[in-house]
Amino acid sequence: MYKAIFIDIDDTLLDYVPCCREAFDAALGRESDELFQLFFDISGRLFSEAKRGLHTIAEVMELYPAEFCEKAGLGSEAVEPFKHAFRAAWGTTHTLVPGTIETLEALRAKGYRLFAASNSFGHLQRSRLQHAGILAYFEDTYISMDIGYDKPDVRFYEEALRRCGLQPNEVLMVGDSMTTDIQGAKAAGLDTCFFDRRGEGTAKEDILTITSLPELLKYV
Ligand SMILES: [Mg+2]
Repeated sequence: MYKAIFIDIDDTLLDYVPCCREAFDAALGRESDELFQLFFDISGRLFSEAKRGLHTIAEVMELYPAEFCEKAGLGSEAVEPFKHAFRAAWGTTHTLVPGTIETLEALRAKGYRLFAASNSFGHLQRSRLQHAGILAYFEDTYISMDIGYDKPDVRFYEEALRRCGLQPNEVLMVGDSMTTDIQGAKAAGLDTCFFDRRGEGTAKEDILTITSLPELLKYV
């Protein structure tokens, strides 16, 4: 039925929290549960605000290191070194969500064209997929900073479709965010599959929902 599958990266293929913790510890130069929680809360709030259109992802990437360094009392001179150290470390973080490799392997075996679709820096996301050993499964990667628009903007999906030469009804979008992945892709005319990773049960009855990646193989 579908010719291709677009797949979100964070909290769909790669486990966001351990990746974030690893990069945070590297950037801070030590382990601190308290400071990590502060960082996680700040970045989480800003990314949520971005989903509501209050910031671009590019803006969030600048805002959260600055707000964290200020609230952690590290001083303004710490912002740039922290930001660069975090990004450098982030580019190698690659903790896989369980079932990722077997699912990608099976989807390729079924003949689907696979594309990663993520809000972030292109070079960092490709580096992470490479470190995780899964970059080669993807024909191309559609990452917001390269595409020029952030999910859930329909223009992200329109540009991705233009690049792979497919119609909306030929592609299934899979992701863990009801906003960026599901609502955005639906608005662009794609069918969607909500990955309810944490069993939050936020799915609507009319949205195809899976609770593990291999479950996707039952539907495609
Ligand atoms: Mg995600």
